[in-house]
Amino acid sequence: MAKKQFKAESKRLLDLMVNSIYTHKEIFLRELISNASDALDKLAYIALTDDSVGLSRSDFAIELSVDKEARTLTISDNGVGMTQEDLEKNLGTIAHSGSLEFKKNLDEGAKGDVDIIGQFGVGFYSAFMVADLVTVTSRAYGSDEAWRWESDGADGYTITPAEKERPGTDIVLHIKPNEAPAEDGAEPGENYDRFLETWELQSLVKKYSDYVRFPIRMDVQRSRMKERPADAGDDYQPEWESYTEHATLNSMIPLWQRPKAEITDEAATEFYRSKFADYAAPLSHIVVSAEGLVQFKALLFIPAQAPYDYYSRDFEKGLQLYSSGVLIMERCADLLPDCFRFVRGVVDTQDLSLNISRELLQHTRELRTIAQSLERRIKGELKRLLENDREKYDKFWTAFGRSIKYETVSDYGVHKDLLSDLLLFPSTGSDTLTTLDAYVERMPENQKFIYYASGESTAQVAALPQCERISARGYEILCLTSDEDEFVLQGLHEYGGKEFRSVDADDALEETDEEKAARDAAAQDAKEVIDFVKETLGDRVHDVRVSNKLVSHPVFMSADGPVSLEMEKYFRSVQPDAANSMRAQRVLELNPVSPAFEALRRAVSSDKDRAAKYAEILYSQALLIAGLPLDDASRYTDLVCGLLS
Ligand code: ADP
Repeated sequence: MAKKQFKAESKRLLDLMVNSIYTHKEIFLRELISNASDALDKLAYIALTDDSVGLSRSDFAIELSVDKEARTLTISDNGVGMTQEDLEKNLGTIAHSGSLEFKKNLDEGAKGDVDIIGQFGVGFYSAFMVADLVTVTSRAYGSDEAWRWESDGADGYTITPAEKERPGTDIVLHIKPNEAPAEDGAEPGENYDRFLETWELQSLVKKYSDYVRFPIRMDVQRSRMKERPADAGDDYQPEWESYTEHATLNSMIPLWQRPKAEITDEAATEFYRSKFADYAAPLSHIVVSAEGLVQFKALLFIPAQAPYDYYSRDFEKGLQLYSSGVLIMERCADLLPDCFRFVRGVVDTQDLSLNISRELLQHTRELRTIAQSLERRIKGELKRLLENDREKYDKFWTAFGRSIKYETVSDYGVHKDLLSDLLLFPSTGSDTLTTLDAYVERMPENQKFIYYASGESTAQVAALPQCERISARGYEILCLTSDEDEFVLQGLHEYGGKEFRSVDADDALEETDEEKAARDAAAQDAKEVIDFVKETLGDRVHDVRVSNKLVSHPVFMSADGPVSLEMEKYFRSVQPDAANSMRAQRVLELNPVSPAFEALRRAVSSDKDRAAKYAEILYSQALLIAGLPLDDASRYTDLVCGLLS
């Protein structure tokens, strides 16, 4: 049969693996055992409702066997197996879900010691790190045909008919020869022989796959004292003999069933990595053992990075659901609220009927009770990280902060109370991101509002003209540097009894009666100038006003109505064509006590042409400060240069 070529991405992945970008070659065993265990889970699930499977739970097992002479290691399971199409689809291409992202990362240049395998869930391919020939013989449950997939990892693969008595999969790895040490002796050269040694395989199973809930068995040589012969004399010396035992190598107690004290960080991390195919260690794990209304155990993880599809529609949330040790559902969405959809983990309960249909499952009271309890635990853990392990929390925030922000105000804010104390923002009063609690705590007694301003960066926000007078009072300003920030604060409306207030708002600071009288007088005095500017700018602005928000700067742009300038910018970026419909009502605010205003005033009374140019320049400057595009940049430069000549 002609060889088929691997899909392009798969080929490149294989090349990378062979060129040992990943140093822990031993993880191939964990990956293959984990696949075998999944296959057993699938058939065990079918067996719950289908007697014709003819196997009960205790019949399922993973077998390892070694033939040193032939240099082969075989991993067999009696799980669901694969059809010819499955072999083609599953082993001929990189795990479909991961392939795109893999390609993207690869194009960006895969660097250093990246665990590409774990990262993209391409477990099976790890076999080629240690084998120069891989043969997979499989018979799918329900089919009477078996098929053999074979590849040397370099030139593609073949699929041919095969013989196999019962459903399941045998994976035979032809182990590579040992590598010679580097010529300069600096590197010892990879020792592949060890993967043919039972002691090594035993220890790898213990290390990586101990919790697998099916027995992993292998023939192990042991020695024992020979029985003392009946006629042995006084000088009898005990004799030893070796024998072969078909031993179970793993303890099979799932990690989540163990006492909390036994679930070390290390064990939890290893479990997480192998179970959820993420190369980065989780930030934290949560052990739950509930004895209340519904009894269940759970082991949850807060990942350190968002999966590549996290912010897309393709992302599926959910926890693995076991009932009395049988995997019922790979991703049970109802166990996790949307706002914590980044959490991975397993839940095991005896209180669910094993053969309950998946549709019915959604509506069970037990599930809701578990979900509520998990929500509290996750929140508690995030709060703990925020308060006691800020470095980790910051990582969490980098990965998932945007999603927490959205969730805080989505669904009409039903999760507001749950999430708002987890929010972080940059602030002029803090070198690090601040919580709203910390902001409120730092507020001077006379400060009424929580102030915010929007811009590209914290530094740019702090330098905005309209922030000057707020900062001068010793008030802190939240610097909203992400698109969604302003929506979030508007959705929240207040925090800790303090309303949010834009520094642009007319009532951002309370005015004393004298201040108000002075401003009215200034407005009266400036009326001619203001009217002139308004007329000159026409419909480019909604209004022109004397400002009470400026200290030393001459001008800035604010907005009337519900659409702020930041929102206009946001809408412009997501829907460039609809920018006009979402235009903020621009208000040009002028500082009547600035030198620029004085110059404008003089020009209005002496040289209207010149005054019109000033008005346009001030308007353009306000646009620039607000980070909005100029209507006509070359006209603006011409105007400024005209004044220079
Ligand atoms: P992943 O396990 O992350 O999906 P793999 O490359 O390890 O990616 O495996 C690809 C697919 O091949 C699996 O999802 C599974 O459908 C199938 N597969 C692998 N090993 C086995 C096996 N021993 N029995 C049945 N199916 C298997």
